[in-house]
Amino acid sequence: MKKVFAMLLAVLLLSSMACGQKAGTVETQETAAPVATEAPKAEAQAVRQVGAYDVVANDGAKAGTEAYPYMVMTKYSVWYLASTDIELQGEDTFFAGLAEVLQYFDEDVADAQKALAGRIPAEIPPVEIRTDFCGQAGVSESAGAYYNGMANFIKLFHSWEVVRYALLHEYVHYLTIHCAEKKVLSGFYAEAVAEYVSRILCKNRMMRSMDPSELYDPEMLDAMHAWGVWDEEIGGPDYRKSVLCESDAFARGLYDGQQYQSVGQRTLLRMGDRPIPYHVYELSYAEGESLAFYLMETYGEDRFLDNWDTAPDKIAELYDLTEEELLTAWSAWNAEQCEQLGIRMELP
Ligand SMILES: [Zn+2]
Repeated sequence: MKKVFAMLLAVLLLSSMACGQKAGTVETQETAAPVATEAPKAEAQAVRQVGAYDVVANDGAKAGTEAYPYMVMTKYSVWYLASTDIELQGEDTFFAGLAEVLQYFDEDVADAQKALAGRIPAEIPPVEIRTDFCGQAGVSESAGAYYNGMANFIKLFHSWEVVRYALLHEYVHYLTIHCAEKKVLSGFYAEAVAEYVSRILCKNRMMRSMDPSELYDPEMLDAMHAWGVWDEEIGGPDYRKSVLCESDAFARGLYDGQQYQSVGQRTLLRMGDRPIPYHVYELSYAEGESLAFYLMETYGEDRFLDNWDTAPDKIAELYDLTEEELLTAWSAWNAEQCEQLGIRMELP
């Protein structure tokens, strides 16, 4: 019983896992001046073809990339491929997985840039991406992929399936934390915007070309149907409904006594005497995203996105509310939405 119940949390947390923003990562952004990823000057001969792209030997131009013997360059990215990952998966499997990602990557990234046009510079330098399927970075234990704001690269963990699920989200972090002139400064905004852009505003071909059974086990698929969050048309869970449903479950106490990761990058415990958190930074990832939906749908997308450099404890002020008023109004709205949509998480 507890098993299925905990699984939705796991599924929805996959998006938060995908972010893997360590505490303090976002805060350190303002000290890091935007530096264009140095475009490798390699005119090296292709050692292999992956879809439409050449795999070339690492030209060594970038210090600290010795563990990555191969590179791939696309319009919007420079990839470093780790020798240990190629050994782990075997060459054929590794490069087949890479090909599946690359066939959609530039198109997906172009969508994300377009979605944030006017809020990010017109010219975005290629993002640096490194594979680490062996989990050599400590953060891989709790993240599917990770944008390192200090070093300014994306690291990919676990498998190509997880990459397809998480990569566009991480790319949005690169845009809002590194490239934008006005930078995102809080976990709440970083995650809310990354999820909103990658799951709502973009087609996200990398993720949506996957079969749901690659992401969810059969028990979970059944539960999503029963709770009303499954969308027959897209053949997968409806993201907005999933977020509302999960938030409602928190408010109804279904997660009481369980630890969760907050958008403020803390591990917290929800207790029965507190259906609504006191502060925005105490919200779970699903609740944070639901709050973002509430603010955008009530007050407009521009007001929300134009203020992404606001600290979490100042967000209510933007709407002339106290934090308590804001969280109370949002929680009531969330419950109402679930009622109207007929979605409800139940213990099996
Ligand atoms: Zn994230």
